[in-house]
Amino acid sequence: MGQPQSKPSKPWFIQPGDHIYCQRKGGLYYHHGIYVGDDMVIHLQGKAKKLEPLPECRKCKDKRVQNGEIAKVCIDCFLRGERPRIYDYGVSLLEFLARKGGTCCQRDSKPPHEVISIATYLLERNRFGPYGMLTNNCEHFAVFCKTGSAASYQIECIARGIGAGPVGRLAGAAIAVAWRVSKGVRKT
Ligand SMILES: [Zn+2]
Repeated sequence: MGQPQSKPSKPWFIQPGDHIYCQRKGGLYYHHGIYVGDDMVIHLQGKAKKLEPLPECRKCKDKRVQNGEIAKVCIDCFLRGERPRIYDYGVSLLEFLARKGGTCCQRDSKPPHEVISIATYLLERNRFGPYGMLTNNCEHFAVFCKTGSAASYQIECIARGIGAGPVGRLAGAAIAVAWRVSKGVRKT
């Protein structure tokens, strides 16, 4: 009930291989995922949050894959009514610092087909480890798919805000190191 969003849900500007994100909880944070085509998104989500009623969505119920904590859902289920935005890659340092954390990064994106392959590989093999807000979140997953190494600027930005500058940067760096340690050696 309340289900069928019959309007075409994918905005024209989203292309397969794009890292997209949207607000959650009224803008408290952003949720990130990789658009892989056919109105489907692969994302990493926390355990507690995946308990939304699966069978209610007509669009992705059949194609829906729940594999550990990486899931493939339709874009409507991903967006939950929020406006999608594109996460930008290859921005300048100035732009990166001027924009809100967790909306862009300086690294370059891999080509779309590689991004989709990585996301699909991680989905099928459930190779990204358990969700952790600080060390292994939805942004880490999406940035990893796009670039081959993970980062969460949303978290680093929060750390930066708390530490106001250098201290925050250190905190961000510490989080990044914690992430690498928690992952150990990984393959792509
Ligand atoms: Zn759905």
